[in-house]
Amino acid sequence: MIITRTPLRISFFGGGTDFPEFFKEEGGAVVSAAINRYSYQIVSEFPSSLFDYAIRISYSRGELVKSTHEIQHPVFRACLQKCGLERDVEIHVATDLPAFTGLGSSSSFTVGLLHALHAFKGDRVLPSHLAQEAVQIERGGLGECVGFQDQYAAAYGGFNLIEFPMKENPKVSHISITLQNLEKLQKNLLLVFTKIKRKAVEIEKSKLPAMKSQKAILKRIRDMALESVGLFEDKSPLDLSALAQLLEEAWSLKKSLSTLVSNPEIDEYYERARKEGALAGKILGAGGGRVSYALGSAGAACGDRGCVPRSSQYACGTWGPWIGGDFRWASDQNRHGIMICRVCDSTRLDPVIDLGTQPWCNHFLRKEEIGKEPFYPLKVVHCHDCETAQLDFTVPKETMFGDHTYLSGVTRSLSQHFAGVAQEIDQRFFKGASKKSILDIGSNDGTQLKHFQKLGAHGSEVIFDGRVIKTGTAS
Ligand SMILES: [Zn+2]
Repeated sequence: MIITRTPLRISFFGGGTDFPEFFKEEGGAVVSAAINRYSYQIVSEFPSSLFDYAIRISYSRGELVKSTHEIQHPVFRACLQKCGLERDVEIHVATDLPAFTGLGSSSSFTVGLLHALHAFKGDRVLPSHLAQEAVQIERGGLGECVGFQDQYAAAYGGFNLIEFPMKENPKVSHISITLQNLEKLQKNLLLVFTKIKRKAVEIEKSKLPAMKSQKAILKRIRDMALESVGLFEDKSPLDLSALAQLLEEAWSLKKSLSTLVSNPEIDEYYERARKEGALAGKILGAGGGRVSYALGSAGAACGDRGCVPRSSQYACGTWGPWIGGDFRWASDQNRHGIMICRVCDSTRLDPVIDLGTQPWCNHFLRKEEIGKEPFYPLKVVHCHDCETAQLDFTVPKETMFGDHTYLSGVTRSLSQHFAGVAQEIDQRFFKGASKKSILDIGSNDGTQLKHFQKLGAHGSEVIFDGRVIKTGTAS
């Protein structure tokens, strides 16, 4: 049995520029983040010889069919045919949130289903392939008027800049935000369930005529996505008011693309949130719809999350404890780490030990951080093909080392220990050698290498914080 979990997403900037009608002429860019709400697909073998039908599918309704051509649900039909699965398969679907929320759920569903069906066949597929196939199915097969961003957001997970060049394939780059700024952003974001139903495709269709005539607006929307990366990646405390200014501009530009993007009810929500102190906000997805978010201001006098909870009292109602920003980004490793060996790309991975979720070691907490420190999965898996043991989850290095100030060179006892290690290795392995070469991987500030250099070894270069700070000298 294969179970895939595919994240939904919230978009920040660039929506609309992910349509080929625009990006094939001008190039597009989108900034979005996966959230910890998911679409689940369960695919298992179906013993059709024992039944009167060959495929069993269950979603909000059930389908028992003899061939893929009989399947009513167009996405199941298209995905099964794309993967060449004609019989002996059973599929179940579960989702954390309802459809048409503006959180990219349709594409999460398509991407997750393709992922599960490929894995069921034993095929390894990369996120880029999943995204491309989902685009082909939604745009080509089903002829839906959708952009490309949701398929990529779902297939990659994480907080990303997704660029759509005119000629080449889309490019996904992880946004390197510091942990402090990520926390600050999350604390100041509120997702609001508006309970308004809409189908994205209709709204997107209404925007299409504008795409040709309002190129200048879309270019600005694309440039704002690129601009926002600088804001998110800045190492100093996140500038919420600059971010709010961009969001405000993005929302008013988005509204100018189609009259269906907003409506008096949404405009009223927005105005009330602003009056309560929200700095900016927008409707997610194509617009016109169900989930919006508001960006609050930190440290306002009305509670932990700034001004936002007061807005939520009338706006969100019934939507669970994570409203108020208590969602975490879904990482791509969450989805793919358990599927693909990071050394040989094999999918034959077995769990060895699962320690649940753990906080970082060697990370001293400030008083106000106690109880709020992030936890990450800590699980060791073993690869059958290359025999390596590995963690199935990696904390992004930008997050882990964004505020990492530990240097081995500042501890005298550690430096003495490294001197001893260098001497021992020199005596055991380098006796009488005319040339001594040392490569130190993960060398921190290069303290260990310095001791080898004192003994006449040729040390490799030391890379620290992405910069080469020391190059070994030949004896
Ligand atoms: Zn392997």
